[in-house]
Amino acid sequence: MKTELLIVGAGAAGIAAALAAWEAGCRDILLVDRRERPGGILPQCLHEGFGLAAYGAELTGPAYADRITERLAQTGVRLALGTEVLAVRGDKTAVLSGRGGLSEWRFERLILASGCRERSIGSLPVAGTRPAGIFTAGQAQEMMNLRGQDVGREVLILGSGDLGLIMARQLVLAGKHVIAVIEQGPRCGGMARNYRRCIEPYQIPLRCRTTVSALHGERRLRGVTLRNLDSGAEELLPCDTLVTALGLIPERELVRGLGDPDWLSYVGNCHRVHDLADSAAAEAEAIGTRVGGELAV
Ligand SMILES: Cc1cc2nc3c(=O)[nH]c(=O)nc-3n(C[C@H](O)[C@H](O)[C@H](O)COP(=O)(O)OP(=O)(O)OC[C@H]3O[C@@H](n4cnc5c(N)ncnc54)[C@H](O)[C@@H]3O)c2cc1C
Repeated sequence: MKTELLIVGAGAAGIAAALAAWEAGCRDILLVDRRERPGGILPQCLHEGFGLAAYGAELTGPAYADRITERLAQTGVRLALGTEVLAVRGDKTAVLSGRGGLSEWRFERLILASGCRERSIGSLPVAGTRPAGIFTAGQAQEMMNLRGQDVGREVLILGSGDLGLIMARQLVLAGKHVIAVIEQGPRCGGMARNYRRCIEPYQIPLRCRTTVSALHGERRLRGVTLRNLDSGAEELLPCDTLVTALGLIPERELVRGLGDPDWLSYVGNCHRVHDLADSAAAEAEAIGTRVGGELAV
């Protein structure tokens, strides 16, 4: 099978790239996502704060996803959901796995919009066991917002970036006891507006220059050891849930080893991590316009 433009990932960036490429005149675009719903991580972000630049309104993630998906539906871009790109080869072919099984596609240009992955607790030198009850912020968000699952009751958050702050508020609103947000740096790592919205009103303690040095528990987490990074003092803190927000890493595994071919472009969080969906989309739009224009000639 063939397509002129293959776009991997139908998040804010992939959809923006597809819309722009279509508007630039490319009429053969296949947009693929392994998830069953378009929007990437947007559908699981129930808080407001999306779309100020693009739509002049503070939308929730799902509302933002709906807007861009509606625009996509007005084009002839083919959207293949529930479809994973398993491999991309240097001869401009890709292997897809979807509802109809495996298929091989030949393409002219590829835009990678595969987002990012979260740094896990395994990336830190933390002693002790690895019991149940430890989630990345994205996992906790997906469990609560998309699957209606419970994460735990007594929660500690490790990392005060925007993801950590947003999850702290959401957990409080869900009736959980957020014991503290732990931060190794000297101050809050997230945007000031998120600190004001998510931490201050709920009086959640933010403990800076502190880290988790050990995990305790056999089947389920029952506590962590906290270490003060200035004094070295340690304390045991009981909790049943640890939510880690340790940073995001651009996801480019799919094209590792391919070098820098002229048919490949990166957009959105797989290029660099964007705090705002609008900025991921704006970057993708510029690339989509260029690539789409070249294919339209
Ligand atoms: C918790 C959180 C809160 C945020 N809050 C805000 C906010 O308030 N306001 C704001 O503007 N922005 C916010 N952002 C940032 C914004 O959501 C992101 O910058 C933007 O949505 C990233 O879009 P993306 O398309 O690059 O990546 P993603 O949305 O991650 O999309 C990538 C897609 O690629 C797919 N994919 C990856 N690999 C493959 C493959 N091999 N085959 C098929 N599909 C694949 C994935 O399934 C995914 O759907 C927030 C982000 C997070 C995580």
